[in-house]
Amino acid sequence: MGDTIFGKIIRKEIPAKIVYEDDSCLAFHDVSPQAPVHVLVIPKKPIISLEQLEDEDAPLLGHLWLTIQKVARQLELAESGYRVVVNCGKDGGQSVDHLHFHILGGRALKWPPG
Ligand code: 5GP
Repeated sequence: MGDTIFGKIIRKEIPAKIVYEDDSCLAFHDVSPQAPVHVLVIPKKPIISLEQLEDEDAPLLGHLWLTIQKVARQLELAESGYRVVVNCGKDGGQSVDHLHFHILGGRALKWPPG
């Protein structure tokens, strides 16, 4: 398991407000929310970023997207809509080296992002 803060959350070494968990992924509230609803969906596999994905990860990615849909519905975002963001690398603003999908919702979001 990658030794990031998210690895520690997966291993339950530090607390998080978990909203969904299964064998391959985990969803929890962001500690510093940028919208009324801000949840992170992560694979349990310690993939560093979008750039480190490999062909063998394709089924996992499909599962992650369906999990994002499930979590968004669970959080009652489906009707009004929401945004899914993946920050990748330095210029993308990635600060944790464990692939994660931000689900943002609960207000009208501006475009383009900063
Ligand atoms: P990034 O900037 O890498 O795309 O997103 C990382 C996200 O992880 C940030 O939104 C940040 O607030 C969140 N985060 C960082 N540390 C923790 C933590 O210990 N717990 C939770 N729940 N979120 C965290």
